[in-house]
Amino acid sequence: MKHVPSKNWINGEWRGASSGETFPVTNPASDEVLARVPALSPHEVDEAITSAQVAFLSWREVPARKRSDILLAISQALLARVEDFAELITAEQGKPLSEARGEVVYSANYFRWYSEEAVRVNGDIIPADTPNKRIFVLKQPVGVVAAITPWNFPVAMLARKLGAALAAGCAFIAKPAPETPLSALALAELCAHAGVPAGVFNVITGDAEMIGSHFMSSPLVRKVTFTGSTEVGKILIRQSADTVKKLTLELGGNAPFVVFGDADIEHAVEGAIFGKYRNAGQTCICVNRFLVHDSIAHAFTERLIARSKELVVGDGSEASTQIGPLITDEAAAKVTRLIDSARREGASIPLEPTPNTRGKRFISPSVITHVTPSMSIWKEEIFGPVSAIATFATDDEAISLANSTPHGLAAYVYSNNLSRALKVSEQLEYGMVGVNDTAISSVQAPFGGIKESGFGREGSKYGIDDYLVLKYLSVTMP
Ligand code: ADP
Repeated sequence: MKHVPSKNWINGEWRGASSGETFPVTNPASDEVLARVPALSPHEVDEAITSAQVAFLSWREVPARKRSDILLAISQALLARVEDFAELITAEQGKPLSEARGEVVYSANYFRWYSEEAVRVNGDIIPADTPNKRIFVLKQPVGVVAAITPWNFPVAMLARKLGAALAAGCAFIAKPAPETPLSALALAELCAHAGVPAGVFNVITGDAEMIGSHFMSSPLVRKVTFTGSTEVGKILIRQSADTVKKLTLELGGNAPFVVFGDADIEHAVEGAIFGKYRNAGQTCICVNRFLVHDSIAHAFTERLIARSKELVVGDGSEASTQIGPLITDEAAAKVTRLIDSARREGASIPLEPTPNTRGKRFISPSVITHVTPSMSIWKEEIFGPVSAIATFATDDEAISLANSTPHGLAAYVYSNNLSRALKVSEQLEYGMVGVNDTAISSVQAPFGGIKESGFGREGSKYGIDDYLVLKYLSVTMP
């Protein structure tokens, strides 16, 4: 991308912070500073909220068909600029270019999907008890939506929320992760060119805690949608109490990948490679715990080691790279700590990570066996290219081990026995279950978790409901 944004997009204009304060955005592969972006002051955050409220009052009046046309134009504009956006995502986030291209296309799909949903926000007419009475149900936009998004899919996590919100008739303020605000800012400009009116979509940057608490305390912000850690999600739930804010929370996961003795091992390992190592293991639906039946544990592990070794670690902008750098030194240190603690706690490490001359953020795949539920690597979200394997003997044991976490986002089941696969899937306490499948994220399906992985759904026919409120009219005809 030739033009890298360095200001905030507020009310249809590029703006800096009045204090002149900025913070750097760096490339995790090279440490190059890509841009400096504004650190807004609290009153500027409030001004952005106020202008979004003004824009909302007009946007909600725009006919659904027109909003739909604009969403389709955004989708098409993104598809016309896949390469530009992919380069920017890889530069600020580190993922391989091929994955970044996939993210842009995936994002465009959400805008297209919601262009289709925008015109189908139908209400209801409910039969009343008396002849002169009518009951109408209206679906109306909730109001100004604030979004707080993570760094692992800088465009897609925004697109999933923004598409639904714009379709519903809401105005939107996004606070992207400080590591990856540039593609969000570029998206704001693209949306403006595609016809989104000034103030309807704003992107602001600055101190996360301050911006988060201003979103939460503002009575004008009627909904906050968040993707990130369970820890921050819980802070937001507490902060939402004072203004009784509607929330959608996509929080952390601890995905089990259960392989039964009757599974197709080749197929399971290929699913594992995608489900474990995509984005260097930095997705909330990445496999965190492999649970493998005793009878095939050896064969599965050998095959997984062989395939894991083949993956090429490098700078995401190089065509051969399959695993890019982790996002920050802290993220890499956490992964190293989890591997070390598993070693101390008695696990075996048949595939050790190999040191990389490019630096410690470049971590090659490792495989750890003899993992037990008391180990940190079992309990914590790894967010790195580490395959941690435990074994089981019976179906009940597998289910109980898989469910032994406060999280409930994604789970995977591999079995060629249909009734076993279905029975187990039904007992897994997760919002999403892949059966012989790890490519579970798609626009027509409801993405989201249960338990401490959050609530609300993104995508599908359900996703738009998170941005609508029901109003019912009780009408008597005297
Ligand atoms: P991760 O571990 O993926 O970085 P976080 O939950 O820390 O997950 O970050 C996700 C998003 O939440 C980012 O945009 C980050 O800036 C923001 N964030 C972090 N802390 C807070 C907070 N206290 N209030 C609001 N947003 C926050």
